Formats: sequence, C-alpha cells, structure tokens
Amino acid sequence: MIEIRRSPVTAYIGLGANLGDARGAVQTALDALGKLPGSRVAAASPLYRSAPIDASGPDYVNAAAALETRLSAPDLLAALHAIEDVAGRQRPYRNAPRTLDLDLLLYGDARIQSARLTVPHPRLRERAFALRPLADIAPGLVAPQDLARVAGQPIERLSR
Ligand code: ADP
Ligand code: MG
Repeated sequence: MIEIRRSPVTAYIGLGANLGDARGAVQTALDALGKLPGSRVAAASPLYRSAPIDASGPDYVNAAAALETRLSAPDLLAALHAIEDVAGRQRPYRNAPRTLDLDLLLYGDARIQSARLTVPHPRLRERAFALRPLADIAPGLVAPQDLARVAGQPIERLSR
C-alpha cells in the first residue's frame, strides 16, 4: 500500500543512462517522475555526459532532479525501480551498462540505513556525475570542496 505523507519533502534524484537512446531515456524519466502520485518536479538540471566509472561501456548521460513528493522514501525507491523497469533496465552484473538508473541521492534531511535503501546515497560525494548536476539545482547542498575532490572525473555539459 502506498502511503501519502501530509507534508511534502524535497527529494533529489540522480538519473543516468548509457545504453540505447540514453538522452531520450533520461528525458522520459524526468516526465515520469512528475507523474508519480503526490509528486512534482521542482527543478531539473541540464544534461551531462560522463565516462563510466569502475565500468566499461558507452559514455553516460546524467542529470539530477528535485522532486517535491509526499511519497515515503521506500515508496519513492519502489517507484524509481518501476520507472527503471519500464525503460527496460536489466541487472546482469554489478555496474553493468544500463538503459536507466535512478538513484535517490537525498530525501529531505533524512538519514536512512536499511537493507534496501541508504540515504544520503553512499557514493554521492565520490561522483562528479551526481554532484555536478545536483550543484546546478541545489547549490547550497554541494560544497565547493566536494566538487574540487571529483574534479578529475571527466564530465561535460550537453546542450539540450
Ligand atoms: P547502482 O548502485 O549501480 O545504482 P542498482 O541501481 O542496481 O545499482 O542498485 C542496487 C541497489 O541499491 C538497489 O536494489 C537498491 O535497493 C539499493 N539502494 C540503496 N540505497 C539506494 C539509493 N539511495 N538509491 C537507489 N538505490 C539504492
Ligand atoms: Mg541505481
């Protein structure tokens, strides 16, 4: 059963894709996020292109979105997985190339540690492809030293 909270929370979602029409998949996912129950996309970053980290395969298209949502964090994660499934996401092995990856980067100021969900996302501060688009839509949440630490990771902004 989906629980709808009374007051909305701002969640930040990291989007990535590197198989098939990656740009189209990220765009479609942004639309799908806005259609989730009790949710609206308050901001979406520009699209970026990044090289895969600890993985092979084509470059990624990445973005971040701010989602104002009344969904609980576990329900939101389940909804993200459902959107990934519609995009044809498969998980043949760890860090495999993917048609769509939706990660819950932040959920308000919640700290969550469960078997299925860790928030803030455990690798958020290690990844330029998550931090750069997040900094565009939530500059107050990304410290300059965070960006400096990942400055060596190749990432470039794509024109829309
Ligand atoms: P990746 O870590 O490469 O994104 P997956 O998308 O396959 O790999 O996610 C693996 C698992 O990570 C998911 O089944 C999910 O339960 C778990 N997970 C834990 N915390 C989070 C989070 N904050 N956002 C998304 N998935 C998470
Ligand atoms: Mg993921």
